[in-house]
Amino acid sequence: MIPFNKHWTLFLDRDGVINHNVSGYITRKEDFTFCIGAEKAIALMSRQFHKICVLTNQQCVGKSIITEQILLDIHQKMLTEVFAAEGRIDGIFYCPHLAGEGCACRKPGTGMPLAAKKQHPSIIFEQSIMVGDRLTDLQMGRSLGMYCVWIKGPDAYAEKVPEEYFDLCCQSLAELADTLQENQQ
Ligand SMILES: [Zn+2]
Repeated sequence: MIPFNKHWTLFLDRDGVINHNVSGYITRKEDFTFCIGAEKAIALMSRQFHKICVLTNQQCVGKSIITEQILLDIHQKMLTEVFAAEGRIDGIFYCPHLAGEGCACRKPGTGMPLAAKKQHPSIIFEQSIMVGDRLTDLQMGRSLGMYCVWIKGPDAYAEKVPEEYFDLCCQSLAELADTLQENQQ
């Protein structure tokens, strides 16, 4: 089990972890729907973690499929609903660049967690958990020494993740929140 406590940070991937994956990209607020129990799970984990940050690759901005403003509106909807469930998200970091641009922020690059630490210097990567459904999420977490949780739910992108990339595998954020609560130190 992951030896976490209330000083730890939780990093969450967005699509397939917080909200249902759709084919293609989330391009409208209406298409952003939480995975079952995800808002409640974030609320529960808000009481268990020092910081909660969302890290999301959104190449659809770079491809001009959506504007940055639409992405911000979608994130506002996410925040509003998490807040309504009495949870909190301390930061949302996104990479709008194209895969071929070679930026430092697109996962598995580490630019987004490094930006989170700049904003919240109390974050310690060795005392952080990265939760994602894709190998690139977990590769990013591993390269900063984080514990990693693979969400292999019905919502998860059908991708095989080798065992060395995760410390725990859950079907959903809801299952993760329950598992962490049972093991809180
Ligand atoms: Zn980027």
